[in-house]
Formats: sequence, structure tokens, C-alpha cells
Amino acid sequence: MQMYNYPLYRPPSEAYSLILQVTYGCSHNKCTFCYMYKDKKFYIKSLEEIKEHIKWAKGQYPAPSRIFLADGNALVIPTGVLLDILAEIKDNFPSVERISCYAAPKDLLNKDIEELIQLKKAGLSLLYLGVESGSDEVLKMVNKGVTAEEMVKAGQKAIEAGFKLSTMVILGLGGKKLWQQHAKETAKVISAINPHYFSPLTLMLEGETPLNQGIQRGEFQLLSSDEVMEELRLIVENLYLDNCIFRCNHASNYIPLKGILNQDKAKILAEIKEIMEKKNYKNELYRGL
Ligand code: SF4
Repeated sequence: MQMYNYPLYRPPSEAYSLILQVTYGCSHNKCTFCYMYKDKKFYIKSLEEIKEHIKWAKGQYPAPSRIFLADGNALVIPTGVLLDILAEIKDNFPSVERISCYAAPKDLLNKDIEELIQLKKAGLSLLYLGVESGSDEVLKMVNKGVTAEEMVKAGQKAIEAGFKLSTMVILGLGGKKLWQQHAKETAKVISAINPHYFSPLTLMLEGETPLNQGIQRGEFQLLSSDEVMEELRLIVENLYLDNCIFRCNHASNYIPLKGILNQDKAKILAEIKEIMEKKNYKNELYRGL
């Protein structure tokens, strides 16, 4: 019996985690740049199906320390059901130290703070929030479904509830027209959230997406690698964060960078400058690998 409904995605930092698929797809599934779950109908698995999945997983990986709940936004699951799932995980995997999932901003906004605190107490400890951009214009253009202000509220709420919060943004998402606004407003929103982790990814065109169609119609112009680096420089320059782990090591990125922000800001900016001067970027052919 096939235990996963593919394709299956997880953040790079969950490479060694047990993946428990508790939903299929994404309940939003409308972002114009996203191809990940286009062919999947959103579905929340029943507790019985999840118990079956856990039973199988226990046979394969009896003592995982990390578990990631797939697919695209497991936090959308009603709180009572999610609490039952977390209890089941704790019963079957007493070794687990970290349980995480993707959280769409609306999932965080739709739960009240007490529900989030309950989930945190039950063992869900790390949330991945796709911020994508801090610009209202870009968020609207890509159909993210929330404003920048709502994104900030969602992120701050997760932190207030006690979660570790990992945020991702997409370099190049504003295209040539909105790149400066995208960079400056993104830095503003990430600074206001002040997450524990911050990772810029770089726009990649995969699959048949509305964004791809917009490019073909000439409505959206992609940034060059130099322009993406300039955008990253502008974001980093405008970030004000407390001990935030900065990782720019996603396969989509032109270069790998890491550090702690804000304390390593000058070092990271110097690295970006040097890389731009030497044009030492990952070959376009190898991006995504
Ligand atoms: S919320 Fe995330 S998974 Fe869903 S469509 Fe948007 S980017 Fe894709």
C-alpha cells in the first residue's frame, strides 16, 4: 500500500525528519507562483487514516526525534483534531523532540491565541510561515490572500503563542516593476515579525502557473541574477532583528549565505558585495538542484 500521496514537500531543515502526511495539498492553493499542490484536491485525513499512517511509520522509523506534518498547511486542521493527532504522535513516538508544519497566515489568524497555546503545549513547536513579500501590491498580485498587516499579525501571534517561527520570502517575486518596493516592504514586515529564522528563497518557474502565463504575456519581467542579488542586499540592509538565524541556502538561491541577524549584518552585506563583484552565482541550470 502506498502510504504517501505525492508530490510531497518539506522545508530543507526537515531533511532528516519523519514526514507524517496529515493533509493532502493546500487549502488556499491560489498563489500565482506556486505549482506545488496544483494537482491535489485539498483533504484533511481522518484520525483513523492518520493512525494507520502512524502505525506504518512506526514500523519504518521507530524513534524519530523530528516529525514534520505535511502537506501545505497542516495548521488549518481544526484545533481539536490537531490536538488528537499530536497526542497520537506523542503516544507512538516518545522520542520526538520537535513537531513542525507549514502554517498559512490565515490559519494563524483563524485560530485564537488560546488554541495556539494549547497546540504548542501539546507538542507542536515549530511553524513555517511563507511570508513571500511584505509589499501589499506584491501580495495582492500573487494572490496570497492576506495583506502585509495581516501577515505581521499572523507571525507575531505565532511567536506570542510560544512557537519557534521560521519565515520564508521569495526573491524576485515583485519582478522588475516592483523589486524595490518588494525588498523594502519585505524587510519591514520581517523586522516587525522578528522571527527566529528567516530564509530568502528565489523565484523559480516550474509547472504551468498563472505567473508563468503572465510572463509569457509580457506582464511580468523576471529579475536577472544581478538584480536578485541587489534585491537581497536591499532586504538585508533594511532588516532589524534580534538573534534571528538567517539561512539563504535553499536550492533555488544563486548563492549560499548564513549568519545571525542583526549581529552579522555587516559581514553578510560584505559577502553579498564580494559575490556581486565576482559574479560568483550558481549556474541557472543548477538552480533548484
Ligand atoms: S499557501 Fe503556500 S502551498 Fe498554498 S498555494 Fe500559496 S505558496 Fe502554495
